[in-house]
Amino acid sequence: MKLARRIENLPPYLFVEISKKIAEKRAKGEDVITFGIGDPDIPTPAHIIDRLCKAAQDPANHRYPESDGLPELRRTIAEWYKKRFDVSLDADKEVAPLIGAKEGIAHIAFCFIEPGDIALVPDPAYPVYSIGTSLAGGEPYYLPLTAENNFLPDLNSIPEEVLKKAKLLWINYPNNPTGAVADLAFFNRTVQFARQHGLAVCHDAPYTEVAFDNYQPVSFLQAEGAKEVGIEFHSLSKSYNMTGWRIGMAVGNATMINALKTLKSNIDSGIPQAIQYAAIEALAGSQECIREHNAIYQRRRDLMVDILNSIGLEATSPKASLYVWAKVPEGYNSTDFATDLLEQVGVVVTPGIGYGKSGEGYVRLSLTIPDAGLVKGLSRLAGWHNPKKVPGKSRLA
Ligand SMILES: *Cc1c(COP(=O)(O)O)cnc(C)c1O
Repeated sequence: MKLARRIENLPPYLFVEISKKIAEKRAKGEDVITFGIGDPDIPTPAHIIDRLCKAAQDPANHRYPESDGLPELRRTIAEWYKKRFDVSLDADKEVAPLIGAKEGIAHIAFCFIEPGDIALVPDPAYPVYSIGTSLAGGEPYYLPLTAENNFLPDLNSIPEEVLKKAKLLWINYPNNPTGAVADLAFFNRTVQFARQHGLAVCHDAPYTEVAFDNYQPVSFLQAEGAKEVGIEFHSLSKSYNMTGWRIGMAVGNATMINALKTLKSNIDSGIPQAIQYAAIEALAGSQECIREHNAIYQRRRDLMVDILNSIGLEATSPKASLYVWAKVPEGYNSTDFATDLLEQVGVVVTPGIGYGKSGEGYVRLSLTIPDAGLVKGLSRLAGWHNPKKVPGKSRLA
């Protein structure tokens, strides 16, 4: 048996490796506390589950769903965008329900990338942008996100010969893993740049509803002319604690949406209909749950940032997203630091290098851990003894 090169060359997904390590430790009876994957610990709100259960009882929902999604779901998504961002969408032409945003993010590459083409991909980033690109036969060209640039890509630094081969531009705000946010001015500049260079923009935006201190993230589609050049990926996963149900959407440019729908109609058969009804309930029902969840995350964020800074791991407090992006102590790289924390105090953090070269020097901590575990994990971090500590410097540095 001979596997295709595209599979042989594929690295195991970042969290597969980390999950394996945690399982090994736990099998040995060790108590591991994980700030690893960003998977909301709070259950899906009851009104959403009620609708899902009711829909599951209806035999009409036991059959193949339409691969474009229920018209009512597409309408509800359009109405939610209008209400939340004042963005108007044609529910038939500009909305594509997805089996989670991840699915659409991987598949959009096949709609644009020919062998030899380039996709502009932020670094560090959610791994699927570059993996989708490679699977489609293209090459990612990485745009470093640095603290000096507020973790925004420097579009003007991209060489002309790269731009000639570039088809897609990926951006993601509120950002995973850095927790950075972007304003409308950045999105306006991005639209201009995409127009100039004939790029299709993919904005991945699953965290617009996970925000703190009354901050309201904007949508890329609010930018002037955004719909002419791009689409936005969104998801019910992080907004409504629905990662397990697998439902998201792509919205925006009709040509891009149509291409994605055409590809998908040949590959999958849509989202289980009961789950589509749950999504309708989530988007059209009371949004009070979002405020409640964000209050919980905000409290956790404050606790985490305080402790990290007090032990010398420089971390800025994110305005949105589920992540704190913290600098590793001097003398460490991100992998060695994460390994030492796991070995010495049984705490899992994600090494920044896992998200790309420019993620080196950082670790990501997720806020999706119940309070008791969070407090215990943080107190373990506070008690960690840094063997590389330089005398005279702050505790960990
Ligand atoms: C969680 C996440 C997704 C995936 O969302 P799903 O809808 O659960 O597939 C996509 N992009 C980023 C940046 C994420 O953090």
